[in-house]
Amino acid sequence: MRKDYFFNFQKYAYIKEPKPDGCIFCLIRDRHPSVTDLSVHRDNLFIVTVNLYPYNPGHLLIFPTRHTEDIRNYTPEEEQRLNELTRYFLDIADMVHQPVGYNIGYNMGHSAGASIDHLHLHLIPRYPHETGIADLIAGKRVLVEEPRETARRIRETVEQNPFRNPFPEQPAD
Ligand SMILES: [Zn+2]
Repeated sequence: MRKDYFFNFQKYAYIKEPKPDGCIFCLIRDRHPSVTDLSVHRDNLFIVTVNLYPYNPGHLLIFPTRHTEDIRNYTPEEEQRLNELTRYFLDIADMVHQPVGYNIGYNMGHSAGASIDHLHLHLIPRYPHETGIADLIAGKRVLVEEPRETARRIRETVEQNPFRNPFPEQPAD
């Protein structure tokens, strides 16, 4: 059941409103004016953003700055950075939202539920007493935190607890 939830939730996330042409994550990366910027971290390899259509408060997306569509394209450097960022943003999420667990993963390919080709790793906090999974999929869930407010809270916590890049030869931003 949980697996069904995880692999279906992205389908309606980015197709509600007309968007400018092009890959939404490349547009976020390029700070396109028509795209809502909810990013909470940017470095030379990855961007981390609050999901504009979260399935739960604190739902984050980690995506590579270069447009790539398959995790097998990651370089060792990217894998290392992604691992560090995942750990870091789990710590940040623990501080900001105190969830009881996480779903972490990819939808790769449209038939797997991905509505955006550009690779992105989902970090989805889970809470006790959530609305039932069927309601989540049906879009009946009540949003309990506005995504811009989520981004503001996470940015504040990031500022107070900066990401420590373990490889200083790879400058952030
Ligand atoms: Zn892209």
